[in-house]
Amino acid sequence: MKLHEYQSKRIFAQYNVAIPQGQVASTPQEAREIARRLGKRVVVKAQVLVGGRGKAGGIKLANTPDEAEAVADRILGMEIKGLRVRKVLVDEAADIREEIYLGLVIDRARRRVVMMASAAGGVDIEEVARETPEKIIQVVIDPFLGLRDYQARELAFGIGLRRDRVGDFTKIAHGLYRAFEACDASLAEINPLAVTGDGTLLAVDGKMVIDDNALFRHPDLAEMRDVDEEEPAEAEARRFGLSYVKLDGQIGCMVNGAGLAMATMDITKLYGGAPANFLDIGGGAQADKVAAALRIILHDPNVKAVLFNIFGGITRCDEVARGILAALQEVPTKVPMVARLVGTNEEEGRRILAEAKMMTATTLVEAAQKAVAASQGRVVA
Ligand code: GDP
Ligand code: MN
Repeated sequence: MKLHEYQSKRIFAQYNVAIPQGQVASTPQEAREIARRLGKRVVVKAQVLVGGRGKAGGIKLANTPDEAEAVADRILGMEIKGLRVRKVLVDEAADIREEIYLGLVIDRARRRVVMMASAAGGVDIEEVARETPEKIIQVVIDPFLGLRDYQARELAFGIGLRRDRVGDFTKIAHGLYRAFEACDASLAEINPLAVTGDGTLLAVDGKMVIDDNALFRHPDLAEMRDVDEEEPAEAEARRFGLSYVKLDGQIGCMVNGAGLAMATMDITKLYGGAPANFLDIGGGAQADKVAAALRIILHDPNVKAVLFNIFGGITRCDEVARGILAALQEVPTKVPMVARLVGTNEEEGRRILAEAKMMTATTLVEAAQKAVAASQGRVVA
């Protein structure tokens, strides 16, 4: 789950990272009021869950409350990379002299958290990573020891930070690491970490991604989820406890078990089709969950055929069949469907589906071939 800039920065602040004063507004009038209270030059910033807002025109300086209102009026409602701006952060403007990048990510290959810093921070950090990766200094963090002081200093010296700023930098690096750990984040980033006119370090932008699988132990973070920003189908899937990822193919897949779902996608590809999604209904799914899954699949206009691949263990095939029928009553469709149900109560499941005039298959290969053919308007005997 991604957090907004204002949410990320508030978390960082709890860990002794200095951030600008500011507040969130959802109308131009609110933006004006915040700017008036701050009583300084402000920066008005679109709160959308994508990077590159500055380049897209979503970040503007304003000298007066009037200007803040006018600028907020332009930014609110703007679309940035397909996302509508519904909120702006009004921060006191920082007097930025240098822009540092400081971030934490999980490096899967090294199986460690890695902290990265660069003196070439700011809006072009992706380009720096691509073209001059030597300008990004990394330290690998031992999970038992945590970030060590010498590692933070190594980063500070590596990016050529002035000696009198190293103490400040080290404090911020530790704060960011503690925030990352405490929140079960998979990413925490300050870009830019600004060196200001008075020589202090200030987190001007913040970004955090929280591991969804850890949200159960962070109810306060889970509440920060911004449902307006999510793909509706993915929000619906989460509500029903389904693992769903939309893809670009034509064959909707409904499968129980992540491994089986992967295998189903592979075989679909092997026979010349392309999966429209990854969807794992999990073990022991009841009819209502199956119905929700089918609604989600059919909602995707690219779907030209649906493939059910259910291995009945804890999940009962008859229960799945009933869910499919229930969903089809709610959302009648002409999309052809192929079902392969094996395992617990499979005869009963097949009998129910035969009544719905659905194609059935006994092996996964047969099912995939039929689904691919059906998606192309052909029929396999
Ligand atoms: P991003 O484009 O989504 O990464 O948004 P940022 O918050 O990082 O802002 C982009 C750029 O706008 C920064 O790198 C700064 O150069 C500039 N910027 C943002 N806030 C301020 C500010 O308070 N003062 C000044 N002078 N520039 C700012
Ligand atoms: Mn930024």
